[in-house]
Amino acid sequence: MAKIFIDPGHGGTDSGAVGNGIREKDITLRIGTMVRDMLVSEYEGVTVRMSRTSDETVSLSQRSNAANSWGADYFVSIHVNAGGGTGFESFVYTGTGAPTTTYQTAVHNRVINLTNWGDRGKKQANFHVVRETNMPAILTENGFIDNASDANKLKNASFLSTLARGHAEGIADAFNLKRKETTEDDTLYKVQIGAFRNKTNADSLAAQARRDGFDAAVLLRDNLYKVQIGAFANRANAEAMEDRAKEEGYSTIVLSES
Ligand SMILES: [Zn+2]
Repeated sequence: MAKIFIDPGHGGTDSGAVGNGIREKDITLRIGTMVRDMLVSEYEGVTVRMSRTSDETVSLSQRSNAANSWGADYFVSIHVNAGGGTGFESFVYTGTGAPTTTYQTAVHNRVINLTNWGDRGKKQANFHVVRETNMPAILTENGFIDNASDANKLKNASFLSTLARGHAEGIADAFNLKRKETTEDDTLYKVQIGAFRNKTNADSLAAQARRDGFDAAVLLRDNLYKVQIGAFANRANAEAMEDRAKEEGYSTIVLSES
């Protein structure tokens, strides 16, 4: 089980960098939360903890201590840059080698490829969270909050989701995480041609539909007699049946039910 520690930078009394109407602490929490959700819902063999899950003050040593005492396999600190510039860069502790640098390459490249953001490089630095953590660690700087163009992207929910996906897929690459088998979708798409309070009316419509070659059934649901001409696991098949019924002059509706 890969233990991934996600560290959304700043929080609480520490806003981090601020600019263009947004705060670093909010952006890092949103990205971090999405990374966690993607890893946990889409991959097997991974467990995730976060240094914070809300707008709270957490010191740097609380962050590294939490990861160390949990025995995390990887520490991922998420930040937003400031000070003039654009694009994405990542840091590991000065002088570290593999596997830390291999993991850095995995995460860094996925983010660059998915966001198409300017690549400021894979860097090394003497930051607390990459130095004081006992496991491989990375710190990502996701755009510049004081750059209007970068900030506009960071205000966009789907861009944040893409950033998160880059982190999640990079972590998955680094730890060879397997995607979960997609769960069997047991939704049924039901083609309905009428709903009546009066059963006689429903039976009459069903009889008509049978004469027109449909396999009609009357079902009592929510105090209504509903005339249904098919139930399909595949939406396209339900829509094909709906088209056929429309051609025969029925007014139809497709209801999904799981
Ligand atoms: Zn920061």
